[in-house]
Amino acid sequence: MDAILFLAHTEADGTLAKPALEALGAAVDLKQSLGAALIVGLYGAQAQPAANSLANCGADKFLAIQGEAFAPARYASDAAACEALARASAPTIIIAAGTSRNARVMAGVAHRLGGVVDTHITSIAAASGALQATRWFYRQRIEGTLTRTARPWALLLDPGNQPAWTGEPGSVTPEIIAVPSPESLSRTTVKGFVTPPADQQTIRPDADLLFVAGAGWTKKQKDGQPHVAEAETIIVDFLKNSKASLGSSKSLVDLSGENQAALRFLTHLNQVGQTGASPRHPKGLATCCHGEEPHTVGWRFIGERRAINLDAGCGWARGKADVLYVADAFEVMTKVNALLSQK
Ligand SMILES: Cc1cc2nc3c(=O)[nH]c(=O)nc-3n(C[C@H](O)[C@H](O)[C@H](O)COP(=O)(O)OP(=O)(O)OC[C@H]3O[C@@H](n4cnc5c(N)ncnc54)[C@H](O)[C@@H]3O)c2cc1C
Repeated sequence: MDAILFLAHTEADGTLAKPALEALGAAVDLKQSLGAALIVGLYGAQAQPAANSLANCGADKFLAIQGEAFAPARYASDAAACEALARASAPTIIIAAGTSRNARVMAGVAHRLGGVVDTHITSIAAASGALQATRWFYRQRIEGTLTRTARPWALLLDPGNQPAWTGEPGSVTPEIIAVPSPESLSRTTVKGFVTPPADQQTIRPDADLLFVAGAGWTKKQKDGQPHVAEAETIIVDFLKNSKASLGSSKSLVDLSGENQAALRFLTHLNQVGQTGASPRHPKGLATCCHGEEPHTVGWRFIGERRAINLDAGCGWARGKADVLYVADAFEVMTKVNALLSQK
């Protein structure tokens, strides 16, 4: 019989973040379809709140590693915790969220266990009693289905692909697992995080909204002049207030390479489309962007699509958007910013 280990680190308050709950949802479904055992393995400064919150997930066993040494994201302590939890549960399948913290350690953990690992998994399912995992290849143009015979098989599930597990909390007493020589794990001291302010960190995969800026923001406007500085202020204010993720058309990010007036906070990493990214957000708003096919193909995972364009015949009007506002994006977004700042 398969044994599934759901591995997760807790947050500072002892709870689990959404990507971990999504991975748990996948693990619970797999337990049912494979008829497997499910072991929850938690580690962090405190694991009890997380364990209690999962009391009714149907796990057969709860294991935990607790202590300040396991609070920060640090390779030595994270890998040691994951390895100890795996050795205590002898899983055939390990499931965890595909966060940067987990991705950093899981290959090393799988190697220590003599197993294998796959990352960027989008779904897992049981087919004819065997585990199958899917992931994208070649910039999300080809979806592959994987099976492996090597065990344990560690799978990191990309966030945003499945619903987060929800259930009533309860009371659970996890079995506490000891980590060999934990003092040697603290040789690296984590002094803290340095993160860019919200208006500089423009790519936010977990944001509810993708805001796309197109080249129109830098073009001559109705007074015959470009207004790039004003465009920058409007966009930055909107991102600050809405915490949306910023995408761009290729034309706009290419402008900076041609020494033309461009928005300074955009790079090719923001580019959405055939030769850019295909982000996943529940909603998208395109502004001053024409909506040509090579751009809109990058919107295939965006739920509800809206666009603001002066041109009623732009690409968005041809079945690419659910709603097209034929309007001046400078005026619309200035008004939106005013409404947001009142909140
Ligand atoms: C092989 C290939 C791959 C490509 N890959 C990509 C890709 O990955 N991503 C990508 O984006 N493109 C890609 N392209 C380019 C794509 O075809 C378009 O050229 C590009 O998306 C156009 O960018 P844009 O809509 O921002 O600019 P434009 O086509 O210049 O459109 C600007 C729009 O702004 C509007 N506008 C101007 N002022 C205002 C205002 N005040 N209010 C409202 N609207 C206004 C105009 O009406 C116009 O529709 C690719 C092309 C090729 C050939």
